[in-house]
Amino acid sequence: MKENRIKKPPKKVYGIIKTFDFEAYHNGNFKEKNHPDNIKHKHKFVAIIQCKSSKLNSENVVIDFRYIDKLVEEFSGKYLNELLKNKAVTCEFLANYILEYIPNCFLCELVELNVEGETEGIIPGKQVNKAWASKELEDY
Ligand SMILES: [Zn+2]
Repeated sequence: MKENRIKKPPKKVYGIIKTFDFEAYHNGNFKEKNHPDNIKHKHKFVAIIQCKSSKLNSENVVIDFRYIDKLVEEFSGKYLNELLKNKAVTCEFLANYILEYIPNCFLCELVELNVEGETEGIIPGKQVNKAWASKELEDY
């Protein structure tokens, strides 16, 4: 028997991809004693976010990039564990925080880079960690 399907028109989706960075302090809270990541240290964090929406807002954008400026201003130079009131501010935790902070964001990738002068013997700019958090939303 032949199916009688009515094809729906393709759904319109608008999207943006944005990269931004900030320098801030954090530490983990690993159970292992003397875990090096339990000591407060600094990184340059590089975030790559993707946002999408089925509609543009009244200003014809998916999001206003001022949200990113606000986030960068809020995080820059701060001790993130203190700011976000959490003992274990990991790369994954931070990626999720950014995901929830930015409207229409469905993917946040976050890279931690070493910062010069922070720890003895580190290679500045070397990638330490990369984590991501994402959302699967039905309707945009
Ligand atoms: Zn770190």
